[in-house]
Amino acid sequence: MSGPRPVRAPRGTELSALGWQQEAALRMLQNNLDPEVAEHPDKLVVYGGTGKAARDWRSFDAMVRTLRTLKQDETMLVQSGRPVGVMQTHEWAPRVLIANSNLVGDWANWEEFRRLEALGLTMYGQMTAGSWIYIGTQGILQGTYETFAAVAAKKFGGTLAGTITLTAGLGGMGGAQPLAVTMNDGVAICIDVDPRAIERRIEHKYLDVRADSLEHALQLAVEARDARRPLSIGLLGNAADLLPRMLAEGAPIDIVTDQTSAHDPLAYLPSGVDFDDMAAYAAKDPAGFTTRARESMATHVEAMVGFMDAGAEVFDYGNSIRGEAQLAGYDRAFAFPGFVPAYIRPLFCEGKGPFRWAALSGEASDIHKTDKAILDLFPENESLARWIKMAGERVHFQGLPARICWLGYGERDRAGERFNDMVASGELQAPLAIGRDHLDCGSVASPYRETEAMLDGSDAIADWPLLNAMVNVASGASWVSLHHGGGVGMGRSIHAGQVSVADGTKLAGEKVRRVLTNDPGMGVVRHVDAGYESADAVAAERGVRVPMREG
Ligand code: NAD
Repeated sequence: MSGPRPVRAPRGTELSALGWQQEAALRMLQNNLDPEVAEHPDKLVVYGGTGKAARDWRSFDAMVRTLRTLKQDETMLVQSGRPVGVMQTHEWAPRVLIANSNLVGDWANWEEFRRLEALGLTMYGQMTAGSWIYIGTQGILQGTYETFAAVAAKKFGGTLAGTITLTAGLGGMGGAQPLAVTMNDGVAICIDVDPRAIERRIEHKYLDVRADSLEHALQLAVEARDARRPLSIGLLGNAADLLPRMLAEGAPIDIVTDQTSAHDPLAYLPSGVDFDDMAAYAAKDPAGFTTRARESMATHVEAMVGFMDAGAEVFDYGNSIRGEAQLAGYDRAFAFPGFVPAYIRPLFCEGKGPFRWAALSGEASDIHKTDKAILDLFPENESLARWIKMAGERVHFQGLPARICWLGYGERDRAGERFNDMVASGELQAPLAIGRDHLDCGSVASPYRETEAMLDGSDAIADWPLLNAMVNVASGASWVSLHHGGGVGMGRSIHAGQVSVADGTKLAGEKVRRVLTNDPGMGVVRHVDAGYESADAVAAERGVRVPMREG
């Protein structure tokens, strides 16, 4: 049994475990390894480089076997993708507790991690890979949509209609940018050096058209902008050449960002190098390539700063291009902010974050019914309504049908309770697994990303994700996870996750209400503690108790 094989979660209402809480964990583990969902299922790798769902096939088999026989008052313990114990607990306790990739501070680097991994002692769990709540590329699309919606809310009256966004990188994640901009009714010019990246995005309907030249791209963009018509335009070329040219020519750009793979200098094409020669050059002379890539990134970032000086909204989208430009000696590289402090933090202050759920029935109709329930519950939230409607039309499900949307404190619990009622009444064909990304308001410490530039300087304080995991255990989540190194790598982040199963029982309803109140509540209290006034206002309005505010 213990070797690579295709894995797919069962559908329907027949249980192979002793209850829906255990069945949900089993199906979501299997779903993470579904070939439609995982990047390299044969290696148990789900996404994000080497983010895995189980340490090895023997461990996977042992988890499946154990989940099938796990009782309602038992808890399976998972240590970096391997089941290491079953303990008697109680029915409010999680059925699974997961700790992935954690290392003691002084040992928390890739070198030591790789050494231990080679000994078979650990695995890299990323964020939702090792915690069994990854739902495919919908997550990236929605996160990018939400970021551009926040840009629109902050600077452009709530819509990108009538604006032009300039960006580069149409790869695995960056390819979500054109659709995220047009979903916000804006116009996007997206540069990439790889013609296949442009073609692929057009094929997948994430990108609308390809321009023949810079002039053509600008003409198409201006026409669409003036008609307030959404349009995304692919433009072939090197961002380090095209951005300075566009700046010099006074191109009418409102928003600038970038998602080339700048975090890895060997994956950024230096100016003056042909795309077809890139791989051979990087392999032959990595040091020389790196120097030239960094110099080009400095030119690229200098143009971004130029657009900022000219009045455009400019931000770093989490690819370290500012850091690389600084290494090349450009001293204004950090003149523009990262996307979390610029747009996402105000949402975090309201306890907002990437709420998601999967239909264990396997029926798309269950998700369409929950989409409708979300629209009914939050009719005043226009950006949410636009996302839900467009996701219904444009997102292809991968594996078990699922949905993601950002909801805040006081919203997630209402959605969760409604979902549980829909399971209870038989409106949905089977229970739902309700979880979230670890990239959330109160569940992550990551000084280069989610906790960059906290108001009180508490960027590296990692007590918060630990408290978050403990609160979710104490509140009745179905499985809870505590990881290290997701997103930005070893030594750079600590983060927690939870999944709660709405199985239609009264008990599940009570658990879901507590978890989905307390989990985003951690985001509110974390930001109150850091001194954010908007979090303070949310706590006061919505009744989140913070002892240091009382008395
Ligand atoms: P990818 O490697 O799949 O794609 C990168 C693209 O950039 C490729 O299509 C490549 O051809 C293009 N490119 C390289 N050099 C270029 C140049 N000089 N000019 C124009 N195009 C160039 O990477 P990805 O998965 O799309 O991720 C992109 C980056 O964004 C990564 O650095 C990633 O870490 C970061 N990222 C951050 C977040 C976040 O923080 N929320 C989310 C997604 C991605």
